[in-house]
Amino acid sequence: MSRDEPVDLAKEEPQDAELRDFLKRFRLDQPTRVHEIAERSAQAAAEAAPERGPARSRGGIQPLVDWHDYPPNITFDPTGRCNVVCEMCDFHRVRSDKGWKLRQMPELSPEVLRARLAEKIPMRTVTFSGGGAEFFLNKRWPELIDAARSQTRDIVVLTNGTTLNEKTRHQIVEKQIESIRVSFHGARAETAMEIMRGSRFEDVKRNLAELVRLREARALPYPRLHISFVGMRKNIDEFPDFVALAAELGADSVTLSSMMERDAEGMEHTRGQSLVGDPERLRRNWRAGSQIARERGVRLLSNDPYQNLLEGKEQSAGMEDDEPHAPVTPGKTKLCLFPFDKPFVGLNGSVGLCCSSTGRNVEMGNADLASFRAVWHGENYSSLRRSLITGEHLPDFCAQCPRAPNVHPKTMEIHAALLHARTTGRAAGLWIALRNARHRRRYVAELAALNIPRVGIRSVARAVLMRGLRHFGLAG
Ligand code: SF4
Ligand code: SF4
Repeated sequence: MSRDEPVDLAKEEPQDAELRDFLKRFRLDQPTRVHEIAERSAQAAAEAAPERGPARSRGGIQPLVDWHDYPPNITFDPTGRCNVVCEMCDFHRVRSDKGWKLRQMPELSPEVLRARLAEKIPMRTVTFSGGGAEFFLNKRWPELIDAARSQTRDIVVLTNGTTLNEKTRHQIVEKQIESIRVSFHGARAETAMEIMRGSRFEDVKRNLAELVRLREARALPYPRLHISFVGMRKNIDEFPDFVALAAELGADSVTLSSMMERDAEGMEHTRGQSLVGDPERLRRNWRAGSQIARERGVRLLSNDPYQNLLEGKEQSAGMEDDEPHAPVTPGKTKLCLFPFDKPFVGLNGSVGLCCSSTGRNVEMGNADLASFRAVWHGENYSSLRRSLITGEHLPDFCAQCPRAPNVHPKTMEIHAALLHARTTGRAAGLWIALRNARHRRRYVAELAALNIPRVGIRSVARAVLMRGLRHFGLAG
């Protein structure tokens, strides 16, 4: 809701009187009922869990830096092996004296996973994914699912689709894995198999179609099938046909993922494959794919930086100066919520910032040597979050990141504050977002220019406030 957008009182429920009052008042810098609730919530939380220390201040950015006790989502690397070689991936191989060879690393065992989860982390989602990892090569994968299931309903598995044989398909359906995300990159066999060497196009198609058929035969809601298509110059003209193929296979969604060109040794062939330099061709195929997706009931998604180029937006549209995905410039920061939301845990227990950090020596701590809580609240994470929010002392790794767009620090602060409020239900994050209301125009404009769906302040306010009211028995 922008400052100019009036609250439609006619649409409010009667019990929203508090919320209406709050929405009217938050534009003023004065204490309101919600602040009292925040204070009382913090007091109650401190009394319930004295080890957390005194209630946190609402002021400054500290409540955002010192994020809630545990990450709400965690990704675990399930194995160090993959059975195919994709053009855009170099995680699966290592340099030796005799040239490149496929990486052979130990698998994540259910015992280790259980030990890592022993803290009873209140997670929303567990994802199994890693650089160079094919989940179903881990022979004990059903036990990994069981271990994760003990703590969350929402389990996501990434696969290349080649390993979904009949037995595996049955197990997936029996285990009711919520989401299977498959990498698949061509509508024509030659293209798909050139990009993913070692895969067999017809086998992958059959595996996916059979998985969906099995789910439907048992009238079960899961697994949902999501397909990721990395768009390159060599395959983008097949995208509309690929959407039709995905619909035929029974996919719920297709994501047009951005191709990231790599300078690393052995990855020279990726140069020139990104479509960032050819937005018209990208848009043309996206439009044709969207038409088919609408007709066939498939959800179409994209991610940055392609997302930003689609639907007529130029890369720098709406931005004040630099290109949004270029290295960060003075006065800007990166809009990235991974360090606030979702750590990546490697095979050796190292906790990394994001998938880009896997195997690249960017470690926040080790989940096997310290508790998750200690790592999540450790100085590495805290100082990185502070840097992202303020734009100061951003490490090179993030400053150069092409995945995260460049924004004003206030945009990042508001975004982090809304995520904090939405995730934790605590009013502190919301209060910070609202206190920055005068920056909201910039926030909304930047996110619109970047095509990033913003978190609705109104829906967050409602959720946080109602939760607070219920906590104190003031609402049903
Ligand atoms: S399937 Fe995934 S892990 Fe395996 S080579 Fe391809 S991108 Fe890398
Ligand atoms: S490297 Fe990029 S994606 Fe990873 S945490 Fe930093 S800004 Fe976010």
